[in-house]
Amino acid sequence: NVYLDNQATTPVDPRVRDAMWPFFCERFGNAGSRHRFGEQAQAAVTQARAAIAQLIGASPREIVFTSGATESNNLAIRGVCERPRRRGNHVISVATEHKSILDPLAKQARHGFEVTYLPVQPAGSRQAGRIELDDLAAAIRDETVLVTLMWANNEMGLVQPMAEIGHLCRERGVLFHSDATQAVGKLPVDVGELNVDLLSFSAHKFYGPKGIGALYVRRQTPRVRLESQLDGGGQEGRLRSGTLNVPGIVGMARALELAVEELASESQRLAALRNRLFHALVQELPGVELNGPVLDDPALRLAGNLNCSFGDVEGEALMLCMPEVAVSSGSACSSFDLAPSHVLTALGLGPDRARASLRFGLGRFNTSEDVDYVIQAVIAAVRRLRTLGAPPP
Ligand code: PMP
Repeated sequence: NVYLDNQATTPVDPRVRDAMWPFFCERFGNAGSRHRFGEQAQAAVTQARAAIAQLIGASPREIVFTSGATESNNLAIRGVCERPRRRGNHVISVATEHKSILDPLAKQARHGFEVTYLPVQPAGSRQAGRIELDDLAAAIRDETVLVTLMWANNEMGLVQPMAEIGHLCRERGVLFHSDATQAVGKLPVDVGELNVDLLSFSAHKFYGPKGIGALYVRRQTPRVRLESQLDGGGQEGRLRSGTLNVPGIVGMARALELAVEELASESQRLAALRNRLFHALVQELPGVELNGPVLDDPALRLAGNLNCSFGDVEGEALMLCMPEVAVSSGSACSSFDLAPSHVLTALGLGPDRARASLRFGLGRFNTSEDVDYVIQAVIAAVRRLRTLGAPPP
């Protein structure tokens, strides 16, 4: 079996598991308790918070631990939109966002907000999926309370021009949130340089455990004020009540340390594997088309991501034909609905080509042999399906 779905989730790195281990049975205290056990847990949380903050250019009190990026995204959007004193009821986003952005925005729209969805550059262009800064500049109004744009796209790997977007938002005095779930651990992050005010991320995308994530919340110039969504014990500066997930927090910090340490060499390795995979498929099979931005510019596309369509073949059928290869058609979060991917459709792909697409997500534990295996498996499966689907002679 070959796992090539690292945009859906990643395995926990054994070094991360080792760091977490003592916090399950020995150092199990509640970080809020005032005794030895609690203090021990609190010390571990403090250390992890400082490490994570430092790795993204933030200060420790700007990190709010959550259960993952879905919660972070909800806290950012609802937190801003539900503030009683705000300057208006307008939000800007884009149609290629994750559901954990689109659904909270749809809910705000039902409660009187207006949401502008920026267009993206169409399929076939070098920067397919990127927004145009001029469109963003034109969309910002006096009543705009938030711009929320995903940093790196989970389906097609597209990387938005974050620094330019942040600069524009800052210039116009609008809060900028980014769902950085696919970017943190894979791209260098410095929230100061990016002028981002709110940043969501999740440990299970960078070889940490599931069920732990964070929201970076800027505390100075500007100080971002959010309406809390979970109230109770007042943890996390009253923004997110609930007993802290100490093993998860320790694991997330260790996972981020490792990812940042290995970032440069790993990006190169993954891009080379990914390119080899794509070029082998194109060479052996007719009708293979790349979805999303070009592969040759690391500023445009995540190193480990490949998304392509196989003419006349359904992605779902292709997956069934090679059960030993774990890839994805659409994103894991939307795989319950059979509609073609909203991301590929937003690029202008027709439903047939969108349904004919597969996402390959390469990651830390993939080897060159994995890629060789997958190349052969895909070629065989596509040929088989095309023979079956061909009209009788
Ligand atoms: N945003 C993006 C871009 C994602 O890829 C994911 C995970 N599929 C999420 C948000 C949700 O993250 P989590 O699983 O941590 O809730």
